Amino acid sequence: MPRKPITKYCSKCEQDKPIAEFSKAAREMDGLQRWCRPCMRAYNKRKYWEDPEKGRQRVKDYADEHRDEVRKRYRRLYWANPEKYRQLSAANQRLNPDRVRAYRLSYWQMNKIQLSEKSRAHRDANPELYQQKDRNAHQRRLGTRRAYGKAYYHAHTEAMSLYRKEWNRRNPDRVFEWKARRHAAKLSTQVERINRAIVIERDGSACYICGKVLERHEITIDHVIPLSKGGSHTYDNLRVACRPCNSRKWNHLPGEYTP
Ligand SMILES: [Zn+2]
Ligand SMILES: [Zn+2]
Repeated sequence: MPRKPITKYCSKCEQDKPIAEFSKAAREMDGLQRWCRPCMRAYNKRKYWEDPEKGRQRVKDYADEHRDEVRKRYRRLYWANPEKYRQLSAANQRLNPDRVRAYRLSYWQMNKIQLSEKSRAHRDANPELYQQKDRNAHQRRLGTRRAYGKAYYHAHTEAMSLYRKEWNRRNPDRVFEWKARRHAAKLSTQVERINRAIVIERDGSACYICGKVLERHEITIDHVIPLSKGGSHTYDNLRVACRPCNSRKWNHLPGEYTP
């Protein structure tokens, strides 16, 4: 019974070499290339450099035909020595910036949908990372944005004032806070940053003057001692009040006014 051979004769370098030195070739009788790996490699290299343009095309054609296999092979090579390939890629980028850019663009265009899904998934999985990224980008663009915003405002004053009115109507909390802070600052009374929701949470939703239980949108926040009488814009001087009481009380001190 013939034993399975452990060496094979390379018809190129004319030597017996271990089987492991030969690549697989399905079309050969024994399933192996006729030439050993070093001989094949030397031959392919010479062939490539005889006409690099054609060589590149051949490589490309092969890659197109054996997509998955090639990808797997490259991946294996990459992960066997990632540092080396990172450096190679960086060098390539330095040497051929235009080619790299064109390649990336075409790659993006070919895989738009998958790529944007992938990046969305990554964003969803790493919210803090992207929050920081967005903040940095925002900071970088702030200068240009401000100039642009100013120019835009001056070109569209009417629309902008409508927009601002609408914004104010929709954000009463922010308006209240902003006005009170300005007012308090002008009167140089004590100011702290107020969150309306905290006052409502603390006091409940009944007016502290008339006792009426209020819907969310009816709630206003009143300064018990008015700012104009030296009251502070701080939590201890703020209460939940209905709009009528708040506006009627206006700048009366507690006790000077009853509903
Ligand atoms: Zn050989
Ligand atoms: Zn009231």
